[in-house]
Amino acid sequence: MAYCVDKSSVFGFSLETGISKDRESSKRYLSNLRGMVANEAVLEEMIKKENSLVYEFYEMGVPEHPGDLAFGTTICYPGKVADEYFMTKGHFHAILDVAEVYLCIKGRGLILMENPEGDCLYEVLTPGKMAYVPKRYAHRSVNIGKEPFVQFFAFRADAGHDYGTIETRGFRKLVVERNGEFAIIDNPKWGKN
Ligand code: MN
Repeated sequence: MAYCVDKSSVFGFSLETGISKDRESSKRYLSNLRGMVANEAVLEEMIKKENSLVYEFYEMGVPEHPGDLAFGTTICYPGKVADEYFMTKGHFHAILDVAEVYLCIKGRGLILMENPEGDCLYEVLTPGKMAYVPKRYAHRSVNIGKEPFVQFFAFRADAGHDYGTIETRGFRKLVVERNGEFAIIDNPKWGKN
């Protein structure tokens, strides 16, 4: 349901959990990460035991007009598939030239970014830190901490999402645990799907 963007409005988000009582969240489970993780065998084992919630996000239903702002929260839960941290699928914007901001309100995570030319970036976020994702960069949230990684985001409302490029090609980099800390490594499967 879209709301009227020609009048002011107020929304509530918990600063503990990121959850909004104003809307339903979209939920993504382990099974939604099929084809997107390095270790598919471990992923299938985990799904057999319990198809856990990996992340959820709130989009507030802003109409897709160029002058409006889409916003909401993303909540990525802690966990790993083998040594790869729980993450969102990630996406380019359908209008590639659109930036986005992500403000961390809880937990510890990072934003992994890459542009079509292969430049790869990341920023580590803790509460109160905001990442500016430049236009033309695909972006994915990764939880490298032990509690939920909660962020508020905002971007131009008509930007749209291109999930397909990442779903078929992957990100060039993976975020894995090495000796209790995160490490960024090359994705051996990049572009091979
Ligand atoms: Mn985005």
